[in-house]
Amino acid sequence: MSTLERLRTTLAALKLAAIDARLETLLESAAKQEPAYADFLLETVSTEADARRQRYLKTRLQLAHLPYVKTFEQFDFAFQPSIDERQVRELRTLRFVHDASNVILLGPPGVGKTHLAVALAETAIQSVQAAYFMTAHDLVTDLGQAYREGRLDRRLRIYLAPKVLIIDEMGYLPLDELGATIFFQLVSARYERGSIILTSNKSYGEWGTIFGDPIIATAILDRLLHHSTTVNIRGESYRLKERRKAGLIPLPEQQPDETRASAPSGRGRRNV
Ligand code: ADP
Ligand code: MG
Repeated sequence: MSTLERLRTTLAALKLAAIDARLETLLESAAKQEPAYADFLLETVSTEADARRQRYLKTRLQLAHLPYVKTFEQFDFAFQPSIDERQVRELRTLRFVHDASNVILLGPPGVGKTHLAVALAETAIQSVQAAYFMTAHDLVTDLGQAYREGRLDRRLRIYLAPKVLIIDEMGYLPLDELGATIFFQLVSARYERGSIILTSNKSYGEWGTIFGDPIIATAILDRLLHHSTTVNIRGESYRLKERRKAGLIPLPEQQPDETRASAPSGRGRRNV
C-alpha cells in the first residue's frame, strides 16, 4: 500500500472526512509553499475542526426551529431609526444570555421584531448557546395539550432547557385562563435561569387584555421585566416598504407627487 493509500485508510478509520476530502489540495499546497511542519499540521487539523464546527452549528440551527435565518448584517438599521443601535450592539455581546436576562421587542407588524429575535438567536448559536423558537400561540397550545394529558411538567422541560427561548408574536391572540396560567409558569420557571426573547405588537399597558386578567399580567410582567431590555420599535413596516417599491400598493391618488417625492429623499437621508 502506498503512503497515500495508508493515509486515506487511516483518515477513514479516524472519521476525519474533511481532511480526506481536502487531502490533495492540502498536500499540493504544502509541496508548493513548504510551510513549517507545525503550520502544515495546524492547517490540516483546522480543516477538520472547521468542518465539524459548521456541522454542529447547522444542527443547532435546525434544532432552534427558526422560521427563517436572518442576521444583523441583513438588517437595515437606517430604515428603522427608532432602534437604538448602541442597545443592539450591547445585546449582540450576548451578555444578556450570560445574565439570564430577557429581551422584549415591541412594535407594530413588519418593523423587524422577528428578524432581530432570529438574529439574536443566530448569534447565540454561533457562540454555542442553544436557542429555541416558538410562536406564543404554538407554545401555549402545546403546553395546554400537555396539561390536559397530565404531563405539563415534563413538557415544560423542553422550554426550560435552551439558554435562549424565543417567544414570538405575544398578544396577537388573547390567551384563555389556562393559557395565561401556563405562560406564567413558564416565565416563572425561566426567571433568572434562562433568557426569553419575546416579541409583541402590544405595549405593556395592553398586556392585561392579552391575559384577560390584570393580576396575572402584572405577575408575568414583574418576572419578565425584572432583568430585561426593551427594544421599542416605532416605525413603518418593512414589508409595506418593499411592496410599495414593487408598485404593488397603489400610490394615493390625491397626492401622488408628495408620495413619490418622499421616497428618494427618505433613501437619501439613510445614506448620510
Ligand atoms: P415583525 O416586526 O412583524 O416581526 P419581521 O421581523 O418579520 O417583522 O419583518 C418582516 C420582513 O421584513 C422580514 O422579512 C424581515 O427580514 C424584513 N425586515 C424588517 N425590517 C427590516 C430592516 N430594517 N432591514 C431589513 N429587513 C427588514
Ligand atoms: Mg414577527
